[in-house]
Parts: sequence; structure tokens; C-alpha cells
Amino acid sequence: MGEGETPGQPRQDWSPDYVHKCAVCGSTQDVIPVTEWNRGLCHHCLPRCLEHRVFNEIRRRQMIGPRERVGVAVSGGKDSSSLLAILAVLRRQKPFTLVAIHIDTGIGEYSAWSRAAVEELCRRYAVRLVVENTADYGVSPRTLGPWPACAVCGSIRRALLPRVARRENLEVLATGHALEDMLQTLLKQVLSGRSFCPKPVLPATPYDPKKIKPLYLVPEKLTAAYARMKRLEHVEELCPYFLPETHRFKEVFEHLERLAPMSKVQVLTNLGRLMKPPPVSERLFVCEDCGEASQRELCPLCMIRRLQHGQPVPFLKTQPGDAVGRPFEGTKEEQDPENLGDASE
Ligand SMILES: [Zn+2]
Ligand SMILES: [Zn+2]
Repeated sequence: MGEGETPGQPRQDWSPDYVHKCAVCGSTQDVIPVTEWNRGLCHHCLPRCLEHRVFNEIRRRQMIGPRERVGVAVSGGKDSSSLLAILAVLRRQKPFTLVAIHIDTGIGEYSAWSRAAVEELCRRYAVRLVVENTADYGVSPRTLGPWPACAVCGSIRRALLPRVARRENLEVLATGHALEDMLQTLLKQVLSGRSFCPKPVLPATPYDPKKIKPLYLVPEKLTAAYARMKRLEHVEELCPYFLPETHRFKEVFEHLERLAPMSKVQVLTNLGRLMKPPPVSERLFVCEDCGEASQRELCPLCMIRRLQHGQPVPFLKTQPGDAVGRPFEGTKEEQDPENLGDASE
């Protein structure tokens, strides 16, 4: 029986002893047990080990081709700031163009801090920064009928990022989704019966650049440690609109990982092999308001703008009056936040 265990009590942690020792240098000081990768890493060895791991995934999955123009979405949080820094290091070894894209959502001080952190980070790594203000599109991330502000914000970002990428002639769009983000999306898909697995690489379509998630096997605790170790400018405060319940599924995987070390990565990779990638949404319409290729008569961005400005959206059962704060009358499908816009990321 190990230290700290009480007879008759179930074990809390099934991690093997060696994850408490650095797999690179053997130190037992300041070691982060990374059961997800079946090893321990000390603070000193972590940054290089993480960079190598991400470089290997980028190579193995052919995420970035030679001399491609890569846009990286940087929110100012730990994950995307780490991704920008890692790609900036990789750029020294491999010729490609890196451009940072920041969406400023205009949420008071929080957005000001985020933007300042991203600007500082881009100066430090000499990366060109493109800032897009959601106010310029007449939209803002606030609650809209059944859709919480987080879902509205996600839809705005998903719609805006590929547009900016197209305008800037970027061939690849990288986002900082970490292992737990992938697992949470996977579980939501399974529970809703969609059975699509989020993929680390989505090929380019006639409308969108190739989308890559280089951190898809990196646990969030490692991006947090990396950002701290490299002293990356980033915002640690939570967005004032953050809803803990929209992230509650992550706890399931933390518990599973304690019971069965390595299971987070195994769930993602094994189910990823069995499940289909999200379908490429056909865009047979031209948005009535902005002229973008769209799945419906209005693109998600223009739909949100109309609802937020009290204008009708003909194909929705929700009408402007309903959409602002009142009980929602739409169909069950319309009430699903994933259906607010194109959910494929
Ligand atoms: Zn070490
Ligand atoms: Zn539009």
C-alpha cells in the first residue's frame, strides 16, 4: 500500500511512481506528473520537451507545408499564447510565414488586457499582428435568446477567423485547442448523437483555409506551465462571460485520467480512428447582407447582427423580440448552441 492510503479506502491516484520523476533529466524537483504522456517533466525540461512534441505532431500530420502562410488565432489566454510562441520557435527551423490574428470582442477591461498581452507577445516574437474588432461587424458576444454569450462569441470567432485568413491570403489557420478542449467537443458530439470526432487537421475547402490544432495532444496544465516558464504575456483572468457549466465535461476526463492514466489521449486517438470527421458544410447560398458563401440565406455573422439589432431573420422561428432575453420559441434544433453557426472548427 502506498503512502497516504487508508485501509478500506479506494486509491485516489493510479499514476505510476515514475511520473513523479523527470523523464529527461531524472530530477525529482518541481516535477509535473504528465500521466497523459506516461512520464514526468521537471520545470526546466518542460519547454523544450513540449516544443519537440508539438513539432513532431506538426510534421507527422503534415500540418504546415514549406513556405506556407500560417495564421494563428491568439486570444491572449495561455493556450493560444503558448501556440504562438511554439510556432515562432519552429519558424526558426522551417521556412513559413506566421501571422497572428486577434479578435477584439470589446468586453471592457478584459478585452483591453487581452489585446495588450497579444500585442506585447507579437512584438517579442516579431510576428505580424492583425486585429479584428467585432464592433466593426456590428456584433458583440452577448446572450442571444437561448444561446449563452460564450456560444455567440464562439460563433462570431468561427465565422470571422476564416474570413480574415482569406483576406490575408493565409493557407493555414492554427488554433490553440488543447487536449481537454478536443475531449469536451468529442463528448458533446457523442451525447448529441452526431458521432463526429474533432480532428487535428481539417483540409482546406473552397471557402476555408486548412485548419490545424497543433496542441491537440497537449494537456492544459502543460500550456499553463509553458506560459509561466517562458514568461509569456497572457491573461489569467477568466472572461466575465465565462460559464463554468459549459466546461463541466472536462471534469469527466480528469477523473478518468486519475483512474486510468493515459486514458485522455487513448480516448481521443482511439475514437478518432473510429469516428468520422465533421462534414464539410455545403454553402449553396450567398449571404443576403454581406455576399459571403453561406449555408443559409444569411451567414452566421449577419444572422447574429440582425438578431442583435432587432431585425428579422426569415428562416428562424426566433424573431428579434424573442432573441433578446425573452423565452425562446424556436425548434429544439435551433436552441442548440452548436447550430447557431457552422460548428465545424
Ligand atoms: Zn528535467
Ligand atoms: Zn453575411
